Amino acid sequence: MTVTRFAPSPNGHLHLGHAWSAIVAHDLAKQRRGRFVLRIEDIDGARSRPELADEFRADLAWLGLGWREVAPQSTRLASYAAAAERLKMLGLLYPCTCTRAEIAAKATTKGPDGPLYPGTCRGRQRSEDGAAWRLDMGKATALAGPLEWVDERVGRQRATPELFGDVVLMRKDAPASYHLAATLDDAADGVTRVTRGMDLFAASHVHRLLQALLNLPIPVWYHHALLVDGAGRKFAKSRGSAGLAERRLAGEDGVALADSLRAGRFPAGIRLSQSLHAAP
Ligand SMILES: [Zn+2]
Repeated sequence: MTVTRFAPSPNGHLHLGHAWSAIVAHDLAKQRRGRFVLRIEDIDGARSRPELADEFRADLAWLGLGWREVAPQSTRLASYAAAAERLKMLGLLYPCTCTRAEIAAKATTKGPDGPLYPGTCRGRQRSEDGAAWRLDMGKATALAGPLEWVDERVGRQRATPELFGDVVLMRKDAPASYHLAATLDDAADGVTRVTRGMDLFAASHVHRLLQALLNLPIPVWYHHALLVDGAGRKFAKSRGSAGLAERRLAGEDGVALADSLRAGRFPAGIRLSQSLHAAP
């Protein structure tokens, strides 16, 4: 059975870009008589606003979508810690206390998420308070060997997680990084089609590696085109039209809005971008 998901973080209102993402995932599951799952990604402690989860549910219902909700990330911290322990036992994680500024000052190349970590703390064994834990990418890729993954729209990919360097898996300020939490949760939720925007395409290289290291099932990915503005920038509420809740509370017809998006009728100044990376 096809299982897709929509996994918003409750740190801001949903906007049209989110609506598009949810509709794509919902319709993909519906066409295949599968299941569309909602997962609230609420482990970003400082920025998380739990009350927004209710707003998200109201927004999705307003768009005419039906879903099955799974446990929010904040209830899954033990699974993140257990996976990190396993990777530590394999000798693949090391603690890092570098600040963003220190990394930016020493980095000589850029990765998909910004300055590439220069490996300052690699090889450290003992953790200090406030350390993040990074994956030793060289060791991890050597252990996993060559890997492939499939995007349903783009085709077969050779996994190149080394693009990201030594990624953070356990953050200083949150129980897990996006890479670790999303990978574990998708496996736990039985997601067979990881549906999300093209802006996260490269992250799937890292996720495929984590699946290999942690013996998780391998899904197929479906990275959808992004809503962008006239300048090709990824759609964000700050630059575009009203958020979903605002439209809903103003009495707009959400089902009609969803159908317009499906038909490719986007609001003025907004279009779909097929490129792998929207401009920042
Ligand atoms: Zn470091």
